Amino acid sequence: MAQYAFFDNKFVPLAEAKVSVMTHAMHYGTGCFEGIRGNWNDEQGQMYLFRVADHYRRLLQSARILRMELPYTVEQLCDTTRELVEKCGFKEDVYVRPLAYKSSEVIGVRLHNLDAALTIFVVPFGNYLDVTKGIRACVSTWRRIDDNMIPPRAKITGLYVNSALAKSEAAANGYDEAILLTREGHVSEGSGENLFLVTGGRLITPPPYDNILVGITRDTAIELAKNEMGLETEERCVDRTELYLAQECFLTGTAAHVTPVLEIDGRPVGNGQVGPVARRIQELYFDVVRGRNRKYLGWCTPAYSNLVKA
Ligand code: PMP
Repeated sequence: MAQYAFFDNKFVPLAEAKVSVMTHAMHYGTGCFEGIRGNWNDEQGQMYLFRVADHYRRLLQSARILRMELPYTVEQLCDTTRELVEKCGFKEDVYVRPLAYKSSEVIGVRLHNLDAALTIFVVPFGNYLDVTKGIRACVSTWRRIDDNMIPPRAKITGLYVNSALAKSEAAANGYDEAILLTREGHVSEGSGENLFLVTGGRLITPPPYDNILVGITRDTAIELAKNEMGLETEERCVDRTELYLAQECFLTGTAAHVTPVLEIDGRPVGNGQVGPVARRIQELYFDVVRGRNRKYLGWCTPAYSNLVKA
């Protein structure tokens, strides 16, 4: 399959999308990015991009925090992405990675007086975590970085060292994923996912002020729980021990979809099985993202102008 990237304001073969070793963002983490799913619908021969405009709104917010001026509107970014995905023509789930970065080839730590560039590429991408069986997680010894350190509500490349430290520590200790606490000890989120608990029949998730990335899948889960299950989500501070007492826990994210967490720090969550709320939200979510639920088609952008026979 031919792979292309949007690079230097045009579509080029992926192999030609290269930057200099002197690129500012390579040294100082001065980039911001998004992850957008293209979900392949085999029956229809269509690829649905999920909530692509919401992702680009967040990218422009991240860029603003980095004092980066990108000469694109959300609409232009959505159109370019659709065109790029169509050009690549994959017939399986994909991950679209837009990356805006300080492209000046200079030494010097700062945000000002630097050029910015944007690239977008597409890769085939299956499941990131085991969505069917569920996963085992641990509370990380690494704390989640604060808004006044590197703002987590922006998806800044340099910030992901915090996530990477936690993820690799979890993997080294035999867990699938890490859960990070804030400096105050509140539950924040997974290394690349937001976290939900079900306790006493209530759906609970940490608030933005506990240093989460305000996830688009998180919002999707909140909407589906409310509209389709009559279940309101409480956004509030969550203590560590609530993880051990919850009936259910699940993670949400573009890569992770809706992933049940069956064990935390060696303790079973609830009865250690995938719970009914996580299962139902997952079913609803998968129908929605593959364009199978008419009510939510507004969240799905078909990428292919001509349907592809599988
Ligand atoms: N938190 C972090 C740290 C993430 O990297 C991600 C993935 N983008 C999420 C949460 C989930 O966000 P979304 O649902 O928008 O992908």
